[in-house]
Amino acid sequence: MFYFFTVGNSLTQSEHNGHSAVKSKKKDQGQHECEVLDKESEEEEGAIAWQQCKKNRGHPNFIPASDFCLDHLPEKFRCPKALEYVKTISALTAMLRVGYTSWERPNYFAFSQHRGSDVQHTGSALVSEITEHDGPCQCSECDHSPLQSRPQKWFEIHLETALHVIYNTEEAQASRVDFFYDDERAIAEGRKKTLWATEVRKAHSQGDFCSFVCVTHNLDLAQRLQEYLRKSTKAKFYGLSGRWMASGWDNMCVMASHPHGQPKKITLGRLMNEHEITPAHRYYVYSLDTCPGSSGARGAVVEFSRYNNKSFFSLSLLPPHSSRTGNTGINVSTSSAAGYMEPGMAALFENMKFSPLELISAVK
Ligand SMILES: [Zn+2]
Ligand SMILES: [Zn+2]
Repeated sequence: MFYFFTVGNSLTQSEHNGHSAVKSKKKDQGQHECEVLDKESEEEEGAIAWQQCKKNRGHPNFIPASDFCLDHLPEKFRCPKALEYVKTISALTAMLRVGYTSWERPNYFAFSQHRGSDVQHTGSALVSEITEHDGPCQCSECDHSPLQSRPQKWFEIHLETALHVIYNTEEAQASRVDFFYDDERAIAEGRKKTLWATEVRKAHSQGDFCSFVCVTHNLDLAQRLQEYLRKSTKAKFYGLSGRWMASGWDNMCVMASHPHGQPKKITLGRLMNEHEITPAHRYYVYSLDTCPGSSGARGAVVEFSRYNNKSFFSLSLLPPHSSRTGNTGINVSTSSAAGYMEPGMAALFENMKFSPLELISAVK
């Protein structure tokens, strides 16, 4: 069983107050990687957590998303195509600020000792789809306007994260989603766009998977994200078995996330291993750095292979980041096929040992 649980006693009322509540909630998540920041002073507290971090002292391998360029890529992957993959994953990554912990979280689940608490935790998420709708906008901004005066075109932005970050719709409705928070200047320059999440659409506890939506009539935001979605492959990542030993095969693992609730950072490493718990449930081990706040981010594997004297690059998404392993630099995401698919498809997949859906693009 691949879960990390914490066991403790219920907190006293005074422990729920102020700073001590932040401290105790940080510890109430086992090996998961959410950051916990007081809503009143989140930016300062995030900056302090970043400075005082013991997991990755000084964060030498965390590259600010806005600065990422070809020179940061390992030599074998230093090409415009691989850079575009990284930029795309980065643009689709959002920060989550979850302002409530639901009473529905089960015992021994992350933050179960803080059920009912409004102490905020943060994580990361990846945009997976955008759907367009006609009729009066249903976003929270338009909530109080008469139907006829609302914009008549609106969008649902679908995102994926870990279930321990957003557990249900009640938590989603207390969650803010920050898009394009790519550097310190993003707030002052108005580049960071914030929406409220509205609803959890799919949840899977074994796979630590959650898919949720936010609603907006912001055409510019929707179109920009849509543009990046078009550049990304729709491929989901189901496994590597069989390819590990292929000659000429190599990979680079990349993740964009919001460590310590700070502006987006990019880390690089390698996919180390996959473990199959059942044919429909596996987890992935990678060597890239993550920190509290990285939970829910989706790593991506850029693969490089050579067949018939031709080089190929492909991009596959990993399931949402779930945990640290205890060793600095070795971290884990977990997935369940059922977390990704319609029930009928998931049943089909149960019988398949290995079926990666991927998009391979030839590079001359
Ligand atoms: Zn850190
Ligand atoms: Zn609206």
